[in-house]
Amino acid sequence: MIIVLKPNSSQEAIEQVVAEVARLGYDPRPIYGKWQTIVAAIGDERTHYTLESLNVLPQVEKVMRVQKRYKLVSRESNPEDTVIDVDGVPVGGPHFTMMAGPCSVESEEQLFSTARAVKAAGATILRGGAYKPRTSPYEFQGLGKKGLALLAAAKKETGLRIVTEVLSERDVEHVAEVADILQIGARNAQNFQLLIEAARSGKPVLLKRGLSQKIEEWFLSAEYILAHGNPNVMLCERGIRTFETYTRNTLDLSAVAVAKLESHLPVIVDPSQGAGKATLIHRLCRGAVAVGADGLIIEVHPNPAEALSDGQQQVDFESFARLMRELPPYLAPAGKAF
Ligand code: PEP
Ligand code: MN
Repeated sequence: MIIVLKPNSSQEAIEQVVAEVARLGYDPRPIYGKWQTIVAAIGDERTHYTLESLNVLPQVEKVMRVQKRYKLVSRESNPEDTVIDVDGVPVGGPHFTMMAGPCSVESEEQLFSTARAVKAAGATILRGGAYKPRTSPYEFQGLGKKGLALLAAAKKETGLRIVTEVLSERDVEHVAEVADILQIGARNAQNFQLLIEAARSGKPVLLKRGLSQKIEEWFLSAEYILAHGNPNVMLCERGIRTFETYTRNTLDLSAVAVAKLESHLPVIVDPSQGAGKATLIHRLCRGAVAVGADGLIIEVHPNPAEALSDGQQQVDFESFARLMRELPPYLAPAGKAF
């Protein structure tokens, strides 16, 4: 940390700051300028008491951070790309992972037909919400435990790994019995107790970015999971709220580029929630590949017009199969392969 003192602070005022920095566990190094003095506080900002409290002293102009607030998420702590083992399916590094399936698990017929179709097209991970975070309490809330049982049966038949959302701390244990990846939804991206419980489950976690979460805050949510002993986190960009209404959200592909530069964690793009429109999915997938994503999570439904949630953004089987055929020429230049 750097503490900048107000111009012409007295020697006594400077010494008070130096003493306070030492009291908080840092090594104070004052640097005297002609008009203004700064005090460099040497020490790990993430493990010491915060020095931001020094802002209350009248002689302090500002307190500035030098280190990043996230550590384990950062590439500095782990320069190589992390490759996560999802029950035998690798995510990250040279691999490009396709996760696909319905927004919500609705019925045996709907889930199994979709699982077979996405598998035949080349996906390796089946998505499907059993617990759905809906804006209105009157909308379909998911099949709950019955939905989880269907996901487990679909895995048994197809071998596809399962990614499904966990909405609350009390569901972590039983969702983790079926899920190979626990999805933390956008609305829960800063539910820190849920992040800690998900970390403790030991399962890989797909962490969606919050609706209006800054990139640093998204990384800090991931840091919670890593700091609680679970290194297997996938960052998922799924669009943020902006002034734009043409699309449901604004898919922030620049955040994907930032995440790939700043972090070693795999980054998955969800253009379905991002765009909210099936007609935009193929183009956004190509963009995601180009900026370095490690995989995609796509909503696929046998008959999107009849879906119980997010019908307008789900693609049908034919469209998904076409997407899978179209992507390889884009993957090669990005150094990726299915
Ligand atoms: C979903 O994947 O269907 C979903 C609800 O995602 P998000 O949390 O990103 O809105
Ligand atoms: Mn959805």
